[in-house]
Amino acid sequence: MNAALDLLPFVREIPDFPKKGIGFKDITPLLKDPKAFSAMVDAFVERWEGKGVTRVAVIESRGFLLGSAIAHRLRAGLIPVRKKGKLPWKTHQASYQLEYGTDSIEVHQDAAGAGDKVLLVDDVIATGGTAKAACDLVEKLGAQVAGVAFLIELSFLKGRAKLPGREIQSLITY
Ligand code: AMP
Repeated sequence: MNAALDLLPFVREIPDFPKKGIGFKDITPLLKDPKAFSAMVDAFVERWEGKGVTRVAVIESRGFLLGSAIAHRLRAGLIPVRKKGKLPWKTHQASYQLEYGTDSIEVHQDAAGAGDKVLLVDDVIATGGTAKAACDLVEKLGAQVAGVAFLIELSFLKGRAKLPGREIQSLITY
């Protein structure tokens, strides 16, 4: 597959969604295109294969759409990181700042442990709050964060600053 395929034309920007002032990055044109979807997965796999990744942590909800294909190709297990109250068993929680107030994400307490190397996957890094909270959760499990991978980075929001020292991959940068 052609991992060098330019993915940018497959992202559609929806102005003022879900609220005024947000330019929503709609990745459904990329997901539905067989070549683009394959090229995206290839690009992630090329970066992380051979690095000992044992689990891929996927962030609700669009991270799920990318991460399970990546986990399969890396022969790694899959860990859902979900919004508060969605996971049925015992969880660890981490909070992050929203524009107004805070929100939390959770992971099952037995999702990973010492000896695991976890790759975090999400569709977009904006302010980086979600990704930082997810990294904190992985480390609370006693596992190591192998790296953090995004399809899209909104670099003007400086999310990377919240992930100092992390190995970060983003395929498309705005
Ligand atoms: P943040 O915590 O600010 O880095 O926000 C990242 C999370 O919000 C990701 O899970 C994204 O799915 C979502 N997100 C933030 N900004 C956008 C955007 N402009 N378009 C699509 N999703 C976004």
